[in-house]
Amino acid sequence: MPNTATTLMPIPGHIDPVPVPRELKPRADGRIDLLGLTKLDLRMALETSQLEPKQAKLRAKQLWHWIYNRGVTDFSLMSDISKTMQPWLEQRFVISRPDVVEAQVSTDGTRKWLLRSDDAQDYEMVFIPDADRGTLCVSSQVGCTLNCTFCHTGTMRLVRNLTPGEIVGQVMLARDALGEWPSQPEGRMLTNIVMMGMGEPLYNFDNVRDALKIVMDGDGLGLSRRRITLSTSGVVPMMARAGEEIAVNLAVSLHGVTKEVRDELVPINRKYGIEQLLQACADYPGANNARRITFEYVMLRDKNDSDAEAHELVRLLKHYDLPAKVNLIPFNPWPGAPYDCSTPERIKSFSNIIFDAGISAPVRTPRGRDIDAACGQLKTASEKQSRADRDRQTEEKLAAIG
Ligand code: SAH
Ligand code: SF4
Repeated sequence: MPNTATTLMPIPGHIDPVPVPRELKPRADGRIDLLGLTKLDLRMALETSQLEPKQAKLRAKQLWHWIYNRGVTDFSLMSDISKTMQPWLEQRFVISRPDVVEAQVSTDGTRKWLLRSDDAQDYEMVFIPDADRGTLCVSSQVGCTLNCTFCHTGTMRLVRNLTPGEIVGQVMLARDALGEWPSQPEGRMLTNIVMMGMGEPLYNFDNVRDALKIVMDGDGLGLSRRRITLSTSGVVPMMARAGEEIAVNLAVSLHGVTKEVRDELVPINRKYGIEQLLQACADYPGANNARRITFEYVMLRDKNDSDAEAHELVRLLKHYDLPAKVNLIPFNPWPGAPYDCSTPERIKSFSNIIFDAGISAPVRTPRGRDIDAACGQLKTASEKQSRADRDRQTEEKLAAIG
């Protein structure tokens, strides 16, 4: 009998983590999708297809460059890969993009894409152009398991984690649409990424991390971690890992300063309260005055928008000595939402109190409202379809009553 206590004992001293390649699941056509694989997984995919390790290493490097630096999806365009090798790759592999169901452009230039996965799940991404930057708002899940009461995505029943390929695929698709290949450090339209689309990124941590590592890789997409922001509703136990393993900017959806209000608006607060959350922010690696934590605060009329609450917000941020900025988001309404947006005067007064305490508190201009692309409005067309169905049913019932 082996002594299990001993065999499980950790070996003392520094041990390099041994990366374990992910099990690769082929698509329905038998081919393996290379998009979203880590560098190691890409090499392993080639080795598993009987390429010698040395060959596999070289080919993986070439493929990585073609995929993420040049945006090429067609093996026959990879000029430094031999004409015999190209069809060999084609038979076994594919470099995918999410299917685009619909692409919309707002009057303010904001663009929204409705995307569909292989298993017919819909999710959305939004591109917001500004004078000095272009921000892609990326989804991490189809729907969201958290039910924040003011968020439309939170009302979706269907939830699935997006794969690393589906997450990085959004960035690839945006680059395709903006004509931004090959990757170059200067003059890009897509300069920033925010994980603020559908879903809670820290409930899909591994996939979000793997995808963002690809996005940040210098041989490929090459976006600096300083230009990437991850927004969480407050999954406290995962925040330290996010800081250590991805080290991107952190945004926290606060929205309330008392237990009562935040318990209602952001129900995860019942599990991880405000104090725990702010302590995790204070401990977030890499946060300092040059890289402040963003606190998002949605302005809801007579719910969380009093002067007293603004003062309490300041007190909390000072108490935890947080390098903070506050983003005030006017509530974006959706059909059936149980809240109204605060008045402009209220928002101004709230913002002034925070600003007077020396904390920046800009009011975010809603973008893409006309195409339902603004914060918290993301909910897919398939769901809208069912709403249309419901409306029709209501009409039928009313007609039956006469
Ligand atoms: N799940 C993550 C990231 C996605 S939500 C999170 O909650 O942080 C991105 C931001 O939009 C969050 O701050 C969220 O609270 C906010 N938001 C959601 N619904 C909104 C609405 N209807 N109006 C304004 N902001 C909203
Ligand atoms: Fe999920 Fe964020 Fe919406 Fe809350 S605000 S339901 S965490 S997407």
